[in-house]
Amino acid sequence: MANSRFEYVKSYERDDSLLPGTYIVVRIDGRGFHRLSKRYEFTKPNDLRALELMNESAASVMNQISDIVLAYGDSDEYSFVFKRSTQFFGRRECKLVSTVCSVFTACYVYSWSKHFACALESDMLPSFDSRAVLYPSSKELRDYLSWRQADCHINNLYNTTFWALVLKKGLSEKDANKALEGTFSSDKNELLFSEFGINYNNEPEIFRKGTVLVKTQPVQSIENTMSERQKARATHKNAKIEIEQLHCDIIGNDFWEERAYILE
Ligand code: ATP
Ligand code: ATP
Ligand code: MG
Ligand code: MG
Ligand code: MG
Ligand code: MG
Ligand code: MG
Repeated sequence: MANSRFEYVKSYERDDSLLPGTYIVVRIDGRGFHRLSKRYEFTKPNDLRALELMNESAASVMNQISDIVLAYGDSDEYSFVFKRSTQFFGRRECKLVSTVCSVFTACYVYSWSKHFACALESDMLPSFDSRAVLYPSSKELRDYLSWRQADCHINNLYNTTFWALVLKKGLSEKDANKALEGTFSSDKNELLFSEFGINYNNEPEIFRKGTVLVKTQPVQSIENTMSERQKARATHKNAKIEIEQLHCDIIGNDFWEERAYILE
């Protein structure tokens, strides 16, 4: 279309392209899920339906955005890792965070009824926030993912103990909170075992370790220099790559040594 005299306003937009050669992580997090989980009566401490809905939505994001090679999630959050060399949207931050967030949210709302018998209510529809963080090398990227998995563990141990005190011992939420103030992990493990006969290590791995979604093969790059035919072939190949769902440790080396191609 011809230029109009108004077009100069476009120059007010800012260049937000992210540093080349770095790992881009986009993390989404549910808005007000503490309240939302009460409204829709999520099972406490862990509603498996809600986790499966999160996992399904994250897999849909990975299917639709081929340069995402790995995702890690727990509770109401998910982190998406792009291949280091991605040129998706020219690495423009706003485009990346808004697209990931909106594809995720659309799938979450669309798939809700597959997982929950109750309908969503218009005054409390699920929504998510989103941010991008850059990591310069595989060390920081792995430390980031280790941080999220350690956080999952700490929160889950706390929540498991907290809800045992509330649901099994009949404490009020306030008293349960108080009872856990200043306790260490070892105290919570001991309390779970002695008072409720729960061996924390036997709790399901999806609760203790969260969920890792990983592409089972290297993703083909789509470069601007490629012919249309080459682009179509790469897109076709990428569409056939499967996504594996795991609930394993990603802090140690084993996971990464078996999948060196992820960090290429
Ligand atoms: P914010 O908008 O700041 O993120 P929030 O209420 O979403 O606020 P978070 O720190 O993100 O707070 O915590 C998410 C909360 O959602 C958890 O504390 C928990 O109460 C609830 N929640 C999320 N997933 C589940 C689940 N699968 N089962 C039970 N509760 C869940
Ligand atoms: P991109 O992902 O780059 O934004 P796009 O296909 O969405 O690509 P846009 O420049 O945003 O391209 O243009 C939106 C297109 O959507 C329009 O060109 C038109 O074809 C279609 N479209 C949007 N709204 C309507 C509408 N109300 N009626 C008919 N067509 C529409
Ligand atoms: Mg938040
Ligand atoms: Mg939240
Ligand atoms: Mg959260
Ligand atoms: Mg448009
Ligand atoms: Mg458009």
